[in-house]
Amino acid sequence: MKKALISIDYTVDFVADEGALTCGKPGQQIEEAITSITKEFIEENEYVVFAIDAHRKGDHLHPESKLFPPHNIMGTKGRNLFGSLNSLYEDNKQKEHVYWIDKTRYSAFAGTDLELKLRERGITEVHLTGVCTDICILHTAVDAYNKGFNIVVHKQATASFNPLGHEWALQHFVSSLGAKVV
Ligand code: ZN
Repeated sequence: MKKALISIDYTVDFVADEGALTCGKPGQQIEEAITSITKEFIEENEYVVFAIDAHRKGDHLHPESKLFPPHNIMGTKGRNLFGSLNSLYEDNKQKEHVYWIDKTRYSAFAGTDLELKLRERGITEVHLTGVCTDICILHTAVDAYNKGFNIVVHKQATASFNPLGHEWALQHFVSSLGAKVV
């Protein structure tokens, strides 16, 4: 079975203390795990996709503008990957199997070419890491399920600002999406 890693929204705005919409400590605590899993995928020549939220400044028509403060604005440092994951990306971004997607909705599949990229490569299993477990990872997992992909969620490399939401999502992945949570 061919697999891909989808690394979601592990950016300064979502993780750092000074981030615009931060998960805070729970997000910072997964830094080592998310970096080491990503490194493993890159070294094994598996497809690695960084699916990263991208907003335009002052986009009042975007549905999130009514829900959240401005975050991950294009061209700002808040959109850089956080900590050691950023260094890993910078060292490997030229590789053919490392791909960056600007996404504008919670799901990495919404309005992007992610599905085309996965199908071109015959990938049938998606591995999910990043933040937030109960928002962007959840919505990406639901779309992956509806499109028939097998799903593996790396729980030590996911986090949320909401501990109840995190736990709920982890059990939902297993009980309703047939995912493996490892
Ligand atoms: Zn957003």
